Amino acid sequence: MIWYPYEQMKTMKAPYKIVDAEGVYLYTEDQKLIDSVSSWWSVIHGYKHPELNRVIEAQLKKFAHVMLGGLTHDPAEKLSEKLQNWLPGDLDYCFFSDSGSVAVEVALKMALQYYMNRGEHQRTMVLALEHAYHGDTFKTMEVGDDEDYHFVLKAYGKSDQVLHIPAEISALEQAFAKYHDRLNCFIAEPLLQGAGGMRMYDISFLKRARQLCDQYGVLLVFDEVATGFGRTGNRFVADLVLPDILVLGKALTGGYIGHAVTVANQKVYEGFYDDNPSHALMHGPTFMGNALACSVALKSIELFEEQDYMSKIRRIEEITRHEMEGFSDPRIKEIRIMGGCVCVEVYDPGTIKGYQQFACEHGVFSRPFLNYLYAMVPYVIGEDELIQVLRTMKKWFS
Ligand SMILES: *Cc1c(COP(=O)(O)O)cnc(C)c1O
Repeated sequence: MIWYPYEQMKTMKAPYKIVDAEGVYLYTEDQKLIDSVSSWWSVIHGYKHPELNRVIEAQLKKFAHVMLGGLTHDPAEKLSEKLQNWLPGDLDYCFFSDSGSVAVEVALKMALQYYMNRGEHQRTMVLALEHAYHGDTFKTMEVGDDEDYHFVLKAYGKSDQVLHIPAEISALEQAFAKYHDRLNCFIAEPLLQGAGGMRMYDISFLKRARQLCDQYGVLLVFDEVATGFGRTGNRFVADLVLPDILVLGKALTGGYIGHAVTVANQKVYEGFYDDNPSHALMHGPTFMGNALACSVALKSIELFEEQDYMSKIRRIEEITRHEMEGFSDPRIKEIRIMGGCVCVEVYDPGTIKGYQQFACEHGVFSRPFLNYLYAMVPYVIGEDELIQVLRTMKKWFS
């Protein structure tokens, strides 16, 4: 039987069984639902996209997968070339992996080993944000600030290798003043912290982080697994502030196949490029550079460019702002909107209990968590469908 994610299996209610999906719609045996979650924020082009299906089918006729150890192939080469050209600055070196968590692990490993290769053995610490989420593997849980990790804290105690600060410039400056010679990197979900509660903060914080990282020689890592590909209303936040290492996942393949990439800049790459074999990056997920994933990712980026997805996202934000304007309720703490993300934070989690069922009755699939009711819709959503998603949220409070 299936052991479902993030669920107490004893009390879990039966999941909706999906039998088909197309565009923004999920189909159960007897209902069609707009997917306001985009399958964990990844399905940006909608389901069963004819172009994406076509490239996967074409690649499947050649081969689905070969390993990247000692072998290479067109889909991986073309995708890395595309990313090299498409991503800002000198973010040119693509290390593929099969999930966002693993890609963050790779970024953290790169940052640590970068300094070990240089003989700076005291730089073992990572600076991260409060409410951060970077994945569910052990190191990413440690770097994250997630309640789900608390059982591990009980077992091992708090790590002194990770320092968490609020997204405030004063806290950042203090942390750098005190720990700069022990830090190898500062990692953040830039502008929008997703699983930690759709928390939004200002770009000035990241600009200051870039300055401090430069001043003290600390690497800046952006985990854009969730924010990448337009979700914040920027193509990448890395377009505004350039990190040394960028992590992409979720929407990378348009939500078709689990895949992720850790992209390093020239400086980081050169920290490993050496005659010394022990300076190599010792990592290699079995399914890294999967040919189906790489071919669909390349097509996904082409669609994103050719069909001007940034204007679609601006329109989603406009409609969302217009629809939510003037909406309030005493039970609501705050409504936050950024690009293709809207979040209604309530004071009491009890307030949104039962919302999933209610939304389903109104033709929308939603998955609120804790105090957060949110939507991160596929970018191909029509105006009427988006309004249906937003009005369903508002109706719940009336
Ligand atoms: C989802 C997410 C991850 C983890 O990605 P997986 O593919 O689920 O392992 C890491 N970082 C952020 C910011 C995420 O939103």
